[in-house]
Amino acid sequence: MILLISGPSGAGKSTVYRELMRREPRLVFSVSATTRPPREGERDGVDYHFLSDAEFDRLLAEDAFLEWAEVHGRRYGTRQADLDRLEAAGRIPLLDIDVQGCVQVLGECGDRVVSVFLWPPSWSVLEDRLRGRGTDGEETIATRLANARWEVGFADRYTYWVVNDEVDRAVAALEAIIAGRGEPYRRENVPRPLRP
Ligand code: ADP
Ligand code: 5GP
Repeated sequence: MILLISGPSGAGKSTVYRELMRREPRLVFSVSATTRPPREGERDGVDYHFLSDAEFDRLLAEDAFLEWAEVHGRRYGTRQADLDRLEAAGRIPLLDIDVQGCVQVLGECGDRVVSVFLWPPSWSVLEDRLRGRGTDGEETIATRLANARWEVGFADRYTYWVVNDEVDRAVAALEAIIAGRGEPYRRENVPRPLRP
């Protein structure tokens, strides 16, 4: 199984899966490569592999990525070798990747992928969370909000929809999905939380 989680920046993906990983030790975070600079407190090799443009280009030339995409003006990608290593160790890789990456991973890994779209409860809550996080400037927040409207247009590609109103509730939903009790969170059973 590969657990793939997407959702607009600020929806609460990392908050939710950090707690999920505490509860479910089989999960292991798949560390992506990115050309974006580290935020305060982020560690190389833990949060991301922070690469220069030239380093990213080299990996592209080597065909090292299972998937990659440009997101908010920076490049992000999952290395095939990283994923292979996690799966060989018998773990469930958790991929926090964008909607373009999801389309690629579904094409490559199909049945093995459990895909979850994490929704913010409303547009105004999303904006508040992005501001409240305090990691991004106004320009970055504006880009991320604009992209969010486009990203939710891909939500129909995901098997499960989880609304992150309360962290505990969202984590419980993900636990149920992993345990095969995800029926209430299947897309067709969840009213669409937001319109683009
Ligand atoms: P993402 O990983 O999707 O970009 P984060 O996990 O960084 O989002 O969350 C964005 C901000 O929203 C953080 O400040 C986080 O503490 C807050 N947050 C996340 N989930 C909730 C929630 N359910 N209720 C209130 N605040 C939340
Ligand atoms: P952030 O810069 O906030 O950490 O992430 C921005 C966006 O990039 C998020 O939507 C996140 O899911 C996405 N992202 C992170 N890693 C990858 C990756 O390896 N591939 C793709 N396609 N998207 C990624």
